[in-house]
Amino acid sequence: MRAALFLALAGATLVGAPRAQAWSNHALVSFWAFRAAPDVAAAPPVAVEPLESFLKDQEPAIESLLAAQETWARAHIATYPPRPDALAFRADPARDDAARRKAFVEALRIAANTKFALYAQRQPGDAQDADRVLKFSDVATLPEPPLAFYRFYRLNVGEQVAPLAVVASASAEPDFGTDINCWEDSPSEWGPRYKFGRLPFGNPAVNITTQAPFHMGFFHQSWIVYKAAPFVARTYPLLRIHQFFGLADLAFRTGHPYWGWRFAGNALHYVQDLTQPYHASLLPGASTPRMVWTNVMAVLGFPRAKNDLIVLVSNRHFALERYQVQVVHEATRQDAKSPALVALQESARDAAYPAWSDFYARDVTAKEAAGFGDRLNDALLAAAPAHYVSDPAFDFGASGGHVDLMRILDEGPAARRAALDAAIAELLGHFGAHSRNLVKGLGPARTAQR
Ligand SMILES: [Zn+2]
Repeated sequence: MRAALFLALAGATLVGAPRAQAWSNHALVSFWAFRAAPDVAAAPPVAVEPLESFLKDQEPAIESLLAAQETWARAHIATYPPRPDALAFRADPARDDAARRKAFVEALRIAANTKFALYAQRQPGDAQDADRVLKFSDVATLPEPPLAFYRFYRLNVGEQVAPLAVVASASAEPDFGTDINCWEDSPSEWGPRYKFGRLPFGNPAVNITTQAPFHMGFFHQSWIVYKAAPFVARTYPLLRIHQFFGLADLAFRTGHPYWGWRFAGNALHYVQDLTQPYHASLLPGASTPRMVWTNVMAVLGFPRAKNDLIVLVSNRHFALERYQVQVVHEATRQDAKSPALVALQESARDAAYPAWSDFYARDVTAKEAAGFGDRLNDALLAAAPAHYVSDPAFDFGASGGHVDLMRILDEGPAARRAALDAAIAELLGHFGAHSRNLVKGLGPARTAQR
């Protein structure tokens, strides 16, 4: 059909270059989500161990697990590019730690330079130990984003650490480089070998954009969008959640609770990203007919409306993220009873959702977030000055650097800000409930641990 072909051509340039990172600093938000959750906050301390010792101890079990995960992904993720058999993890007790670790990251198809540093983020109330301070570059392979309030410290092998610190810290980790440059057109040594195909959207030369298809899930668009732009369906957060959840389950069952909590935190990250409407729908606030129309105009040689729309949605994404991190950070400093922190801890809402499953993040989390896009968009437009959210001549990603959105909104009408604060509190409520529900899903493994 000619119209379908036309739309497919139009769709190829529909998505811009998402560079934002959903929720800034997942660790602080996770801290509040679990602070009052007994299965995490009251769980006994665990001994820190390097990744290599878990891999060496459980090599045959990891081989079976990763093989089963590959079978699952091929069967259940419609757009899944099969992993080349040469990358499968095979037990080999004779190899050294470095070779085993390399085989592990390649079997997961995550960035080969992922650090897996032994670290935690300083949580509210933690004393600062100057001897243990780590730089962003000690745990991440990416540049440090502005105003994310990261504070890392080193963990020593064998020391006892609270599960809350491990799981909350690890929930920020996938934004530190795990999913960078894993595509065939990525400028990395590993990307071309992983056979994930070409980067579905965004610019392959901008490394932060290459993580987006793992941290976003456009599962609930109109059918016409997938028809026009099949690449929209090539997002893989369910893969990452399945991988890290399974590893957490195995680590708990086999007496490696530090890695149980750590991998649980990694899995959490992707679920938490999908609570964010800008990660769960293509263009929140823009209707399908408007998307299609601006695209058609672009193909006819009038790209302005489409380019403007992409910049506006990107600016709103950045503005939301900036304001949210400031809200959580300020509330942590000054007011533990703020609506944002109360909503994050409100465990009464957890049971309103179905129990954890392989598809929970798609069918529950992302669905809820996609449905919340219009309300969030309206609240953001009402509260924030037009310059930051309605002016396509301003590019928040390029020029938003250190914009203090909280101070700017403080100077505006309080009633307008109240609607945005309520929308953010609601989203943080979703964030808390879905995070706790994932950890509940790991309950049987935690009670079965050796
Ligand atoms: Zn992310």
